[in-house]
Amino acid sequence: DAALYRAKGAGRGRTEVYEPSMEQATTAGVHRELIAAIEHDQLVVHYQPIVDLTDLQVVGYEALVRWQHPHRGLLLPGAFLSSIQEAGLSVPLGQLVATQVVDFVAHTSDQTRWVSVNVSADQLGDGEFATTLLAEISRHRVAPGRIVVELTESSLVASGTRIRHELTQLSAAGVPILLDDFGTGVSPLSYLRDLPVAGVKLDMSFTSGIPEDPTAGRVARALGALARELAMVTIAEGIENEQQADYLHRNGWRYGQGWLFGGAQPGESIP
Ligand code: C2E
Ligand code: MG
Ligand code: MG
Ligand code: MG
Repeated sequence: DAALYRAKGAGRGRTEVYEPSMEQATTAGVHRELIAAIEHDQLVVHYQPIVDLTDLQVVGYEALVRWQHPHRGLLLPGAFLSSIQEAGLSVPLGQLVATQVVDFVAHTSDQTRWVSVNVSADQLGDGEFATTLLAEISRHRVAPGRIVVELTESSLVASGTRIRHELTQLSAAGVPILLDDFGTGVSPLSYLRDLPVAGVKLDMSFTSGIPEDPTAGRVARALGALARELAMVTIAEGIENEQQADYLHRNGWRYGQGWLFGGAQPGESIP
């Protein structure tokens, strides 16, 4: 199939095959397929390690959804997330991710590790996500701080009072909120002040500029200083080599994530 291409590096020694978009298929067909995928448990969560850059120990994971497609192989979110949103399936997606993640956290052998979950603005607002997540957390008797929610700056900026209420509800229950893709949003600073944000994830566009682009490095350093000034947790994304890891660690980024430390892998392969 000419539309398929290979993405290397998403996990050492593994090759993921996916389609860049599903535009060729009819919208209604894709929506039907996605509903079937949810019913047949084809949407599965993989886990990418997050390490402490001080000693390279794994401290947690980011949950990243994949579609184990019966014919097309393992699809990455870029190939189907927008279709999920268009089909109005964001709420069921959030529920299945929340269920899988809390179950994983409850059964993982290292009970100090946490897992962060990506949430889009359209998954929030009606209280369903917070309700589902907090119910799963108490059902499995998991410490709330071991589940973390990641939200992009842009979805925070677009968010209304109901979304903010839901975030405050999660934060008050002990679930930390992280600002994802930090540094790429429109007006982050007032949000850092006004919303219950526990930490930031440096967007990988800054990481990938290190060391060739001195400006990327300086911005990363300044954003790290800002986050530390606000007593926030700092996590740098997209670390692919040791130079990047060293630079970011020396410049205030405590935690790191990226192919240097490992790609996303199925929960079953994590002890
Ligand atoms: P994100 O939250 O910024 O996730 C990080 C993305 O960077 C992931 O892509 C990850 O596989 C990739 N990545 C990790 N390390 C490296 C690296 O060293 N180099 C490079 N080049 N890339 C790296 P992925 O899995 O394709 O996810 C893409 C986006 O889809 C995520 O961006 C997130 O915004 C969204 N997403 C993933 N899972 C979910 C979910 O369950 N719900 C929602 N609402 N969104 C999700
Ligand atoms: Mg994320
Ligand atoms: Mg990110
Ligand atoms: Mg990103």
